[in-house]
Amino acid sequence: MICMVAGGGVAPVSRGRASTAPGAAEDLELPFLKPEEIAAYPADGADLRPVTARKRLRETMQLQGLDGPGQTAGHFWAVACVSLEISQRCNLDCSLCYLSDHSEATHDLPLGELRRRIDRIVETYGPGTVVQVSGGEPTLRRRDELVAIVRDLSARGLVPALFTNGIRATRDLLSELKDAGLRDVAFHVDMTQHRTGYASERALNDLRRAYIERAKGLGLRIMFNTTIFAGNYEDVPDLAGFFIDQADSVALASFQIQAETGRGLLRGHAGAITQDGLMRRLEAGAGTPLSFNVPEIGHPDCNRYTGLLVVNGRREALFDDGRLWRQMFRAFRRFPLRAQQPVRNLMRVAMTFVLAPVSLLRFAAHAVKRIWRLRAHLIRVRGRVEKISFHIHNFMDETRLDRDRCAACIFKVATAEGAISMCVHNAKRDSYILQPVPRMIGGRRRLWDPMTGQLVAEGQGRKPEAPAIPRKRLKGRLRKRPDPAGVNAEGNPAQDPAAVR
Ligand code: SF4
Repeated sequence: MICMVAGGGVAPVSRGRASTAPGAAEDLELPFLKPEEIAAYPADGADLRPVTARKRLRETMQLQGLDGPGQTAGHFWAVACVSLEISQRCNLDCSLCYLSDHSEATHDLPLGELRRRIDRIVETYGPGTVVQVSGGEPTLRRRDELVAIVRDLSARGLVPALFTNGIRATRDLLSELKDAGLRDVAFHVDMTQHRTGYASERALNDLRRAYIERAKGLGLRIMFNTTIFAGNYEDVPDLAGFFIDQADSVALASFQIQAETGRGLLRGHAGAITQDGLMRRLEAGAGTPLSFNVPEIGHPDCNRYTGLLVVNGRREALFDDGRLWRQMFRAFRRFPLRAQQPVRNLMRVAMTFVLAPVSLLRFAAHAVKRIWRLRAHLIRVRGRVEKISFHIHNFMDETRLDRDRCAACIFKVATAEGAISMCVHNAKRDSYILQPVPRMIGGRRRLWDPMTGQLVAEGQGRKPEAPAIPRKRLKGRLRKRPDPAGVNAEGNPAQDPAAVR
């Protein structure tokens, strides 16, 4: 996530490199944040602006030796995306859920507070920032409010993306959201969700197809999220094959490796599941090598990204010549291309050509050669080229937050204090979601209590201890924990919690 030096707080400390930060000697021995550091980890400050946010991220990359020519973080954007959690509730109970034990007991944040967070995202990172409309399950929010949130994001020049399990994401809703300015929809579907009637990842492909049909033709970019755990690691080649077969509709398939955080029942880190192993399995599914290090998206232990072209069934890595592509990424740092700005992009290409004519000409020659090589295929499909991207996101265990990676974080969550690294946020989620939210009502300061949904005068709220959760709303670990009557929330004989860890 992001360097906290400029805003004060936790300094990035690159292992093996001297640091002037206080306590650096100890930090070099222990790359993980201590509990007190996690508790004090700051959000991005209110004074941070897009130019300084980008510069700060760039400097963090340089300090960590990660600012090679293919690095996009800190050059093209100040943050890859920000998650706006509009509900903590969910209608599934994933065995690797990142929500907290208390999430289900909270009320949805008032629209006014969400608007304040949206304003802060624009001020800090600028228009064009991708905002995940997320949760919990965002479609559990009142429909008119969900639409209003997407409309607000779009009106502020942000790029709204709905992150949903798809259950309530009907075509009608997606169509209304598209009209309100939604740009992307990402469906989370995998075996950690225990969906009734689907016994394997392969069986879930029917559901994935149904979700694609719901969104197809609406003008939305369709994406899929898959959590990778021991139960589906060996299915990855099949999954990659499925997504590639849908490349005419699916723009991106993202894979998140199991991490120990949140309320999910599956504990322990899946040490046998590695980024490398996942990359090899995706390549096996694609049937061709994929360049997962061009471009670079922040810290390589956090994110890996690549693209695949499909022409008349022939599959080819998009980033086929790493050296050439890296030169291109470097060339466009001054005038980055932006989605949905075709006219301005032409000007940016022209200005980049003035700055780096040789790189652009080399790249153009390479592109022409590629087109010539593929000409027979291109003619057969009348020039139609499908493209799909693969992303691997390697979240960290809540007790093993690598300080370098947190400092270089590119995926943040909007909180009342500003955006903060998702990994850090998940390690102290309750401290955010249970905290009363200050609101100005009629010129007077009030506190909105997430446990009651009520406004109270300052000093009159409930005590800050964690709330009791109604039995029928227990999820994850709490659902399995034995109660005094010897039965769990499902009315079944209680299990020993150790048995589910
Ligand atoms: S893995 Fe964690 S620290 Fe790294 S980019 Fe993702 S959220 Fe940020």
